[in-house]
Amino acid sequence: MIEIKNLTKIYKTSRKEKCIAVNDVSLTLPSSGMIFVTGKSGSGKSTLLNMIGTLDNITSGDIIVDGVSFKKFKEKDFQEYRSSYLGFIFQDFLLLEELTVKENISIALKISGSEDEEYLNEIIKRVELDGKEDKFPNELSGGQRQRVAIARSLVKKPNMLLCDEPTGNLDYKTSKQILDILKEESKTKLVIVVSHNTEDAENYAVRIIELMDGKIVKD
Ligand code: ADP
Ligand code: MG
Repeated sequence: MIEIKNLTKIYKTSRKEKCIAVNDVSLTLPSSGMIFVTGKSGSGKSTLLNMIGTLDNITSGDIIVDGVSFKKFKEKDFQEYRSSYLGFIFQDFLLLEELTVKENISIALKISGSEDEEYLNEIIKRVELDGKEDKFPNELSGGQRQRVAIARSLVKKPNMLLCDEPTGNLDYKTSKQILDILKEESKTKLVIVVSHNTEDAENYAVRIIELMDGKIVKD
């Protein structure tokens, strides 16, 4: 369970100007289910997700992970949180172009200290990439690339998947396939999807959190 308390992010854009990207947001998130964070461009969705994912510093407020406050986290706790609690999925996939599908996925497994070939194959099947193991990213469609990214994040057996516009570069049919995979994963873990697509949110979310100017306007 993730508790977010009075979370605020202020970017200093110049010496005088500042931007309040996330403004005093409080939320309690369960340990499974598919939750969408929606809102217009610039409403603070990515900033909120990035603070949960420790990609961005918190200006004020707190995040409490399974009862332990970020304020109590040591460097080692953050490392463990990043390596075994979190999985990230981005709009532009971020694959290593010089590695094959299988290598892109297995490298994440190796980093987490395991070389479980059987588990690797199971994950590849789960995202329906069997038969594509030896292809390079530039030989894949957008949907296939995103499925490599999902598999790469799943090998760590994360408790939570943070997805920032995961279907932003995909067509309607491919988007549905990706969201179906994420929905399936949300049975056993928390999946947070940042999206400006309200139709996807209505079709897939168990809960929709809408942001405007860094504040929650609907939950
Ligand atoms: P969204 O993901 O909903 O489009 P963001 O979280 O990216 O919104 O941005 C929220 C606000 O914070 C926007 O006004 C944006 O311009 C600002 N912002 C985001 N990142 C930075 C940054 N690195 N420096 C300054 N301002 C930023
Ligand atoms: Mg964004």
